[in-house]
Amino acid sequence: MSCRSSAAPAVAGDLFTPVTRCWVCDGAALDRYHSCRMDFGQYAEQDPGLHEYSGRHVWLARCRSCGFGQPEVLPTLPGFFDRMYDQRWSEAWVEEEFASTYKDLIFDGILNELASRVPPGRRRLLDVGAHAGRFLHLAQERGWQVEGIELNPRTAAFAAARTGAPVHRVNAHALALAGHRYAAVVLTDVLEHIPEPVRLLSALSALLEPGGVVAVKVPNGAAQWTKERWLARLSRHRISLAENLVHVNQFTPRSLARALERAAFSRIDVRTAAPELPPAGSARGFLDRAVRRGLFGAASCPGALHTPLALHLQAYAVMGAA
Ligand SMILES: [Zn+2]
Repeated sequence: MSCRSSAAPAVAGDLFTPVTRCWVCDGAALDRYHSCRMDFGQYAEQDPGLHEYSGRHVWLARCRSCGFGQPEVLPTLPGFFDRMYDQRWSEAWVEEEFASTYKDLIFDGILNELASRVPPGRRRLLDVGAHAGRFLHLAQERGWQVEGIELNPRTAAFAAARTGAPVHRVNAHALALAGHRYAAVVLTDVLEHIPEPVRLLSALSALLEPGGVVAVKVPNGAAQWTKERWLARLSRHRISLAENLVHVNQFTPRSLARALERAAFSRIDVRTAAPELPPAGSARGFLDRAVRRGLFGAASCPGALHTPLALHLQAYAVMGAA
């Protein structure tokens, strides 16, 4: 898949439905800024309905009021996003994802913050989008009672088997309706994929005990856009911002805070998120880690959150009114 920033052909009417209001603040002034080309060539046999979107273009539009970026239209194909994420990963790959440490700096930071906010007797958390279960495992090691939500059957089964924890294959709304409650809910690299993000955040609010904490990590859409444009200027890099609408939400620090506020959270704290760190096994890996850590240090300085250095955002907020 690839995206491009030049003018794009009009989208076909039947395949898409317009999105006319900002999903975060309900503003109606939305300005186009980037056109993405869709490519589902790898689904040609598995899912011809999805493959029909190959070659189409979707504009991303930025809300003039809150700065949030979102698609101008959404696919009408039923279950479009579920079908796109219907990935049939090998067992070896899932095992590797569980064992891999590349997100541990992020996970450790979240667990440190949650430990400072939730007293030992109440440490019960839900990881939404638990994937292969590494975060659940790390939280268990620190004494948390854990549960997960994971819709992919293979990773859900793996995470449950490796941690012994309940891994639910229902969405957050269903779990809240069933009466489940936690002291902390964690959402790492998930919210950028879900259209109408305030709805999911509201469901997470319903899953928290009064005073419970949510931890949300997303890419900083504004910083990623700047980075992509610079890479394209300096190399043969093709701009890639919302491939196949994978990153359907393009948050900024301000619009992420606004989304949490609209979902009835208070004491909202948005900061620069820690980076993923590749293995240090080679000289190149060692250098890559050093650069990422250095950038993170710079991006954590006062005022740097609103600069392109802050490539990812980490938010914490408390359920209920201040
Ligand atoms: Zn807005």
